[in-house]
Amino acid sequence: MKKFLLIILFSVSLSSFMAISQSSRVIAHRGYWRSGGATENSIASLVAAQQLKIYGSEFDVWITADGVAVIHHDADINGIKIETTPYSEIKDYKLANGETLPTLATYLDAGSKNQTTRLIMELKPHSDKQRENALVKEALRLVEQYNVAGHTEYISFSKNICQQLHALAPKAEISYLNGDMTPAEVKEQGWTGIDYNESIFRKNPEWVAEARTLGLTTNVWTVNRDESMEWCISLNIDFITTDEPEKLANLIKDLKKK
Ligand code: MG
Repeated sequence: MKKFLLIILFSVSLSSFMAISQSSRVIAHRGYWRSGGATENSIASLVAAQQLKIYGSEFDVWITADGVAVIHHDADINGIKIETTPYSEIKDYKLANGETLPTLATYLDAGSKNQTTRLIMELKPHSDKQRENALVKEALRLVEQYNVAGHTEYISFSKNICQQLHALAPKAEISYLNGDMTPAEVKEQGWTGIDYNESIFRKNPEWVAEARTLGLTTNVWTVNRDESMEWCISLNIDFITTDEPEKLANLIKDLKKK
């Protein structure tokens, strides 16, 4: 009888471990840019992420002085500050893979062709609230126009951007990136998740369970090393953002087989 109980207990704990190892899902950081022909924040990197059939593909958005939203990581392009420059002055900029600088419109058009890969849209903090608010409005307008609201999520380091998003799109999924708010504080704002650097979760591993209890999602960036991936999976973080989406997807697949 004792042996029978032990077997049951062992099976239960094993299945709970399996449930843990199955829960983390993959987000490609700036798209799957390490695949052939792609580069960070290119349409090719989004298409490569879509082909991997992972949960989502992340990208960064700025707004030009005349209100055109473009996809780029840094604040500058060849020393030209995007937010104070008209679009006409940067529109011909070529990415490393030969693509022309994507606008948010062209990016969402590509994103609309695949409903299963979620678009993880990072709205970059700008130098003042007016620009940030203009970016939020333009992003929401284009999401509507390309009919991608159902598979778009928003992330930002800017509290103002998260607040504006929540005010204008109360049902939108919004995760805060900056790591300086507890899950309870994020919940109080009405946002839907925390998306923090791995070092923040290392310091506050209890935030994963706290967030879940509050109904918030958890996401971690940018996790590229095997040991870090395994740690994040064991911590039961919902989403892992990585420059190595194929490696992480394979690791999760292998864990499921065990
Ligand atoms: Mg980003």
